[in-house]
Amino acid sequence: MRVTRLRASGAGAILIAAAVSVSSQQPKIGYDDTPMQPNGKWHVHDGTRPQPKMVTPGATPGAAPADATVLLGTDASAWQMTNGAPITWPMKDGILQSGKGMIETKAQFTDFQLHVEFATPTEVKGDGQGRGNSGVFLLGQFEVQVLDSYNNPTYPDGQASAMYGQYPPLVNASRPPGEWQAYDIIFTAPRFTAAGTLEKPAVVTVIHNGIVVHNATAYAGPTAHKVINPYVPASAKGPIRLQDHGNPVRFRNIWIRPIKGYDET
Ligand code: MG
Repeated sequence: MRVTRLRASGAGAILIAAAVSVSSQQPKIGYDDTPMQPNGKWHVHDGTRPQPKMVTPGATPGAAPADATVLLGTDASAWQMTNGAPITWPMKDGILQSGKGMIETKAQFTDFQLHVEFATPTEVKGDGQGRGNSGVFLLGQFEVQVLDSYNNPTYPDGQASAMYGQYPPLVNASRPPGEWQAYDIIFTAPRFTAAGTLEKPAVVTVIHNGIVVHNATAYAGPTAHKVINPYVPASAKGPIRLQDHGNPVRFRNIWIRPIKGYDET
């Protein structure tokens, strides 16, 4: 009715045409008359730059976001023994306890955000490296140490959340034995040239119980005991491994999000 009436006048028809034109297009955002970014692809405030994908965060702190791959939730089917055999670590009510032999994810990764929750034994046994020892091995090679480091002196580059054998954590953020703790790990895999020489080392940021303990620190090489191994091209990708060090450490709520580059949707 209203359209018919407006169409009766020439001015009204122009107004309708303008309104339809605006409503059928996205409103213009951003700028195209600004300098280019250093990457040469986008203007400053470029409205045509890809919008970041929406991801629904976890409902509570530590809960998996919508785009995460859950590695340990209600079952341990994402894991196997390092020889490919079915996992033998006991799992009950969403809690996996370390058993005999190291385990690894069936999937392999490069750059990622990893969330791991663990608890060292409530009953304190042993000392130093013999108390609540396990480990999270990134790409199966770069260890973020798991240890009961609550009133348990050991060499600093071997305590909880250390880049084992290389860097102690910036601070000791450990909770008492038996309490659940969390690592949030942001990892960038090493890069190699086509000839197989190291181009960029592996870099890690680790947040232990909400506290930064490594801030974009480079691994000197794959983790080893009493030595530092050299990088090899095979270091470029791999699974997540959890270590058996003879102490019953519990794990729960492990998830991972591969990290892509900017503007990759
Ligand atoms: Mg360890």
